[in-house]
Amino acid sequence: MISSDIEFDLRHIWHPYTSMTKPLPVYPVVSASGVELELADGRKLIDGMSSWWSAIHGYNHPVLNQAAKAQIDKMSHVMFGGITHPSAVALCRQLVAISAPTLECVFLADSGSVAVEVALKMALQYWQAKGEKRQRILTLRHGYHGDTFGAMSVCDPDNSMHNLYKGYLPPHLFAASPQCGFNSQWNEQDIIPFRTLLEQYSHEIAAVILEPIVQGAGGMRIYHPEYLRQVRALCDQHQILLIADEIATGFGRTGKLFACEHAETEPDILCVGKALTGGYMTLSATLTTRKVADTISNGEAGCFMHGPTFMGNPLACAVAEANLKLLLQSPWQQRIKSIENQLRTELMSLKSHEKVADVRVLGAIGVVEMKQPVDMARLQHHFVSKGVWIRPFGKLIYLMPPYIIQPEQLSRLTMAISSAINL
Ligand code: PMP
Repeated sequence: MISSDIEFDLRHIWHPYTSMTKPLPVYPVVSASGVELELADGRKLIDGMSSWWSAIHGYNHPVLNQAAKAQIDKMSHVMFGGITHPSAVALCRQLVAISAPTLECVFLADSGSVAVEVALKMALQYWQAKGEKRQRILTLRHGYHGDTFGAMSVCDPDNSMHNLYKGYLPPHLFAASPQCGFNSQWNEQDIIPFRTLLEQYSHEIAAVILEPIVQGAGGMRIYHPEYLRQVRALCDQHQILLIADEIATGFGRTGKLFACEHAETEPDILCVGKALTGGYMTLSATLTTRKVADTISNGEAGCFMHGPTFMGNPLACAVAEANLKLLLQSPWQQRIKSIENQLRTELMSLKSHEKVADVRVLGAIGVVEMKQPVDMARLQHHFVSKGVWIRPFGKLIYLMPPYIIQPEQLSRLTMAISSAINL
């Protein structure tokens, strides 16, 4: 890439959460392979981000490439209305097989945010079909569920800047986020704010939505499985649907195939995305129970009211199917366990650093929370100079590398973080 391309980019192209007048620097990547991104000037960076939780097997994987090529030679897309195709069936078969036994019905959607919209709409239609006016959603502070309006309405009201869209967002209910860490002693007080809200509004609440065990983009917080167990019990007690947003945590990232498994909990509705295609392309899915699906289908509308143009895109389904097979055939539990052990060994010592507030590790997720917000542009420059790709935000410097990362590559990432906090 030539410098005029970068200039054009800065002048004309929006990037995630950036200003058009004061854009942050962008680094030109021309190819990627294994766990390395190659910059236009030939430098190679070890990837600590898996392209935002998605590239779990690394880049340019021969099996996934082959799946995409084979599918593109048959058909890259066909409408899903009134048509089905082998790749969608094979993928959904797999999703039904690996998710909780009660999750039987799959809705394929375009992105994580859309999977969340679909889940919220399912919950609303479910109650409408039952003849009850329940339209509020109960969720947790520090949550993140996507950037479309419905999803945004259940994101943390402070750090997702609800103020900007006041009047457009339905007023949902936010319980204080869990305080008990994953490995700490369970404290019964932790569930009280949630239980109080749920009991107070139980007849108005259609569903609870949360990120099980790991709250990702809203703060990288890792909480106690007992919290989730009690949420499930309270939802059961009050017949409220539980939506698990496993878009970030799904497919092994936390050490279990789905994070709900840490609490032996099954949701009524499950959202997956991100790693679903191994980071190849956008695709998500919302799974639900036969009971929810039947209730919706027997309601006034007679169907579920959603059907995007690219629903069940064959190319994405073919890659996703190959990706899940690859994952299940790989020693993923061992890989995640050894990444977890190494992250603990190499990051935990930073906890005593004067600038560090906390260090948290679960599965292939390592988080260093600083006391002060970081200077993202400066830190990224530092990371690139060290040959690694890490994108911090707010007070958080974190890693979620591809599962295939080798120990010496992971050490390069953790060493880069250690050096960055001393800047
Ligand atoms: N839910 C969670 C838990 C997420 O982490 C994300 C993305 N960071 C989303 C939903 C939204 O997914 P997408 O960016 O694919 O719309």
